[in-house]
Amino acid sequence: MHYQPPSNLLNNKIIMITGASDGIGKEAALTYARYGAQLLLLGRSETKLKQVQQDIAHQGNQSVLIFPFDLLTAKISDYQRLTEEIASKVNRLDGLLHSAGLLGEIAPISAQDPEIWQQVMQVNVNAGFMLTQALLPLLLKSPKASLVFSSSGVGRKGRRGWGAYSVSKFATEGLMQVLADEYQGTSLRVNCINPGGTRTSMRASAFPQEDPGLLKTPADIMPTYLYVMGDDSSNESGISFDAQPNRIPGAAK
Ligand code: NDP
Repeated sequence: MHYQPPSNLLNNKIIMITGASDGIGKEAALTYARYGAQLLLLGRSETKLKQVQQDIAHQGNQSVLIFPFDLLTAKISDYQRLTEEIASKVNRLDGLLHSAGLLGEIAPISAQDPEIWQQVMQVNVNAGFMLTQALLPLLLKSPKASLVFSSSGVGRKGRRGWGAYSVSKFATEGLMQVLADEYQGTSLRVNCINPGGTRTSMRASAFPQEDPGLLKTPADIMPTYLYVMGDDSSNESGISFDAQPNRIPGAAK
């Protein structure tokens, strides 16, 4: 996307990012901070989150809160506690980017390990639902809130071997569409971003033979993440955006 955001795009916005300790979520955190956002970062590793917090402080932005939280093992009561903690620190949320994700196994359905299948569904689908449901009251306190899910090309067209991950991304697209319909005409908009093949550790485990140098970096795809989070997209809801619209799915050649 060729989008040139104003430098104050996210001034006064309070934004939460999951999976903020690595990959695309980490880059979104660094980028949103540069554009003025106050951030709440969720990830499973406190050490990695603290590093991102420090990196953002070096950019000159101090308003970062971190929330170590394991989306795989969290129970409903943990979501309630997390929400209470968040509500004690901020009075609204202007954005929530779900970037946390689990790849699981690349294997045909006949060989997918049911336990890993459930883990992928837990992190990619159930956690997205539970966290969104818990944070809706804070999102609805914002005059313009953007709720963003992370999709994938295999969440629109199934591909052999992509098993649980593909099915989980179809479910993510479904969750986004249901929410967008439920909040149509309100202050809350709901969209997906499909980053397209991007140079991260998840991508490397999905395509170990691929030359990562042929892939876009998380920084390259940030224009779409800025557009969907900032007020320039305030009339867009129910859309699955492509951060790399011209990219042909599959291994980079
Ligand atoms: P990475 O694997 O690089 O990062 C995933 C993030 O999710 C990490 O911060 C990781 O934490 C966090 N995470 C994983 N499991 C949990 C958990 N149980 N609890 C809390 N946090 C967790 O992935 P990407 O940045 O590549 O992917 C970001 C999103 O984009 C994902 O939803 C992915 O499916 C999607 N996507 C990515 C593509 C790509 O090519 N990279 C293509 C299409 C879609 P930790 O740092 O502890 O590992």
